[in-house]
Amino acid sequence: VDIVFASQIETPESWLPRLRRALPADRFFVWPECGDRERVEVALVGEPPRDALATFPNLKLIQSLWMGVDGLLADPTLPRAVPLARMVDAGMVAAMAETVLVHVLDWHRHLYRYREHQADGVWKRHRQYMACDRTVGLLGLGALGSEAARRLLLMGFKVCGWSRRPKRIEGVECFSDLGEVLKRSQALVCLLPLTAQTRCVLNASAFAAMPEHSCVINIARGAHVVEADLLAALDSGHLAHAYLDVFETEPLPEAHPFWHHPKVTLTPHCAALTEPRTAVPVLVENIERVRRGEPALNLVDPSAGY
Ligand code: NDP
Repeated sequence: VDIVFASQIETPESWLPRLRRALPADRFFVWPECGDRERVEVALVGEPPRDALATFPNLKLIQSLWMGVDGLLADPTLPRAVPLARMVDAGMVAAMAETVLVHVLDWHRHLYRYREHQADGVWKRHRQYMACDRTVGLLGLGALGSEAARRLLLMGFKVCGWSRRPKRIEGVECFSDLGEVLKRSQALVCLLPLTAQTRCVLNASAFAAMPEHSCVINIARGAHVVEADLLAALDSGHLAHAYLDVFETEPLPEAHPFWHHPKVTLTPHCAALTEPRTAVPVLVENIERVRRGEPALNLVDPSAGY
């Protein structure tokens, strides 16, 4: 099989040596190099250059190197007739669960407040809670949300979650009604895909539905949050803190109020990165499936938008 690697963000050096070792009989090209375009059957993409994919007439699979495919689906030049698979990578899933834990624990153990006290030279203790006093709500119970739920349960937190279709996960109170999750969530974690239905889901009315002094953790996509509504909910004192990894505009503009807001902890879209060591076997499996003429794993449902 001829395979083209087309990503403006992922570097071929992190991927191609492992791929070539795993698939010595296949030919890999790095865009814009691509050999005979008619022979290319698989495209491995991060953020591919616009129009690139439409130039391969016999493409059988577009394989994302990332778990979220909102950027790809928003590209009008994406060939819609070619199956699109997203990455589901155990290394990234583990990294995301760690990120959820570190933020939930930062909030639960009041570290965000102690950082502020330290800056002010203040020696002050806050009341201790047990993990079982706290309910963490997960928006999205997919590959990432369900693993985060499992790890939170191990630590003793109460966990509830929201999904589009009904779900059963042992120990997790699962809802398809968002309001049921919001009213329980003292820490609310967004792990949704960005779709027309989930854009702006974290808005003024969602924040108002949450208990007082809760925290919000957005590690999915910036457009899930109405930034002005979040600032208002923090400034009014209703929300205690926000942990934000993703933003409407990235990199976050220099003058953005989040940068120096005392109630915001921010990171530069690094909540979880694809881990080539665990992701390459997933790519290999899907390339083998193309070779055998079988459907790929983790296909995106274009009608659902994820
Ligand atoms: P999955 O597709 O496995 O899971 C998505 C979950 O969201 C599912 O439970 C799904 O419900 C639910 N969902 C989707 N639409 C709705 C809706 N309208 N109402 C209620 N629930 C909904 O995705 P992943 O867990 O793999 O990834 C989630 C997102 O995380 C990615 O799309 C990506 O944007 C983001 N991400 C961010 C990273 C970062 O570094 N910041 C890194 C990696 C991913 P159902 O179960 O019914 O399908």
